[in-house]
Formats: sequence, C-alpha cells, structure tokens
Amino acid sequence: MNSDSTVDEISELLGSLRENAQYLGELGAETVELVEDRVDELSIASASVPVVNGSADYKATAVVSPKTTTAPDEFPAIKTRSAPIKSAPQDTLFGDLKPPEPSLSQSSETLEDVWRDIGDCTRCGLCEGRTQVVNTYGNPKARLMFVGEAPGADEDAQGKPFVGRAGQLLTKIIEAIGMKREEVLIGNVNRCRPPGNRQPTLEEAAICRPFLFREIAAVQPEVIVVLGNTALRNLLETREGISRVRGQFQNFRGIKVMPTFHPAYLLRDPSKKKETWEDLKKVRDYLDGLRQSQ
Ligand code: URA
Repeated sequence: MNSDSTVDEISELLGSLRENAQYLGELGAETVELVEDRVDELSIASASVPVVNGSADYKATAVVSPKTTTAPDEFPAIKTRSAPIKSAPQDTLFGDLKPPEPSLSQSSETLEDVWRDIGDCTRCGLCEGRTQVVNTYGNPKARLMFVGEAPGADEDAQGKPFVGRAGQLLTKIIEAIGMKREEVLIGNVNRCRPPGNRQPTLEEAAICRPFLFREIAAVQPEVIVVLGNTALRNLLETREGISRVRGQFQNFRGIKVMPTFHPAYLLRDPSKKKETWEDLKKVRDYLDGLRQSQ
C-alpha cells in the first residue's frame, strides 16, 4: 500500500471514529473509553497521529484489516446445554434455545386486523389495572422492529409503547444507527401495564405474545431487536439470559433477532450502553448489507 492510500484509509477510519464518538456522546456513554475501544477495534497497529494546528499529520506504520462487524450469515446457534440452568425458575415453560422453527409464512393480515382481534382485551388479569391496551406502533413496512416487555405508566397513559424515559433512550439508540423512530416498528410482549411495573408472568406473556407473532408475520421485518430478558425469552422461547446471548444474531422463524439490553436497564447502568452500541452496529451493518445486495 502506498503512503497516500494509507493516509486516506486512516483518515476514513478516524472519520468513522469521530462519528461513533459523537453518537455515543449523544447516548451519554463514556466517550473517551469508547473511542479507545474503537481504535482497538480498527486494529491500527503502531499508528502515531500527532495533531498539528488542529489538523492531523498521519504517520502510520501498519494498518491491519479491521475486524468486521457484519452479521454472520449463519446464526451462531447457542450450544445446547446438557444440564439445566440452575437459576431458572421451576415453573419455566422454556428450555434452552431451540433449533430454528420453520420460516414464518407471509400473512395476509394487516396490523389493524390483529388490533381489531385484540379489541378491549380481557384475556388475562392485567386488563384489570390498565388504562388502555398498548398495541405495537410504527411503520407497517418496517425493516427493523424493537420488542420490549410491557407498557409502563407513561405508555399506559398515552397508549403507545416506549414513550417514557426508556422510550426516549430507545429513540436515541435508533437515531444512533442512522434511522428515525417513524421508520421502525416498536412493540411489547404484553400490551397491558402490569401492576407496579412488575414483570409479566409466564402465563400472561403466553396469552399475549401470539398477537405479537401475528404482527411480525404481517410486517415481516428483516431484523427484530429484543430488548431485555422478557422479550428474549418470549420470542425465542428460551430461558437463556440477555447477558449471555446479547450481540449474537438469533433466528425467529427465518427472521434475524438481535438480543440486547433493555433501555430501562441502561438507565440504571449506563456502562452497558457500550455493549448495546456494539449490538446495534451489527444490526445497522446487516441492514446496510441487505440493502446493498437488493
Ligand atoms: N418498557 C417496555 O418494555 N415497554 C414499554 O413500552 C415501555 C417501557
């Protein structure tokens, strides 16, 4: 590689580095730490970058190929455990992550058809404490869908998913990968606010999630991001925990699923924003790759 092309390549990498740092700054992440991480990711070996009068005078001795963040073609199927997970609740319906189910067939339903069927639902006890049913919201042609747990107080009041503090952080996460909230679809496993914001029980989730599956069949997004344990476990019918599988593409009936942390958890532990960013970059890269190949 001649020195001009090396300089160009490093300029490009630094541009991407700055862009990432800006996104992450907006998300409230520890920018310096993240920039260091990105430098490491790009594997710039022995590069010295003295800045002269605000412009960079690049002197690189070697540039090693960046590690790719492109999603693998094959789902890195989670290894089947031989022993049960000890911490799993006794009454769990789920086993470990299963082999992929057959692909979802294209549904002739629309989102409105599903919502009409849900109606003023009283199929489980959560209806008693709710103000209104909070259906999935967003673009019916979305390429990307986010699935959370259940509405909280703000969502119960406004009738839309992810409109409270966690929702505001979700909006920043969506924007960080260059998309707008209006482009995506956002839903939950359960559509009624559980009392005191407790987790939905397995039974409540099992009653409600078929409607989510019907919405997914109607929209057929290219990627679904599951936010936190409840979404992970109910979509993939696993008892695996989010910390173990986050960042690894999974398969829901032929649709790529990226598990990552729930934004409410990120509000409690902002240090985890860094991992979430890594996971969302894989989603962005996968969608970009698909678009280029279409
Ligand atoms: N948390 C969720 O899981 N869903 C919402 O809609 C809001 C907060």
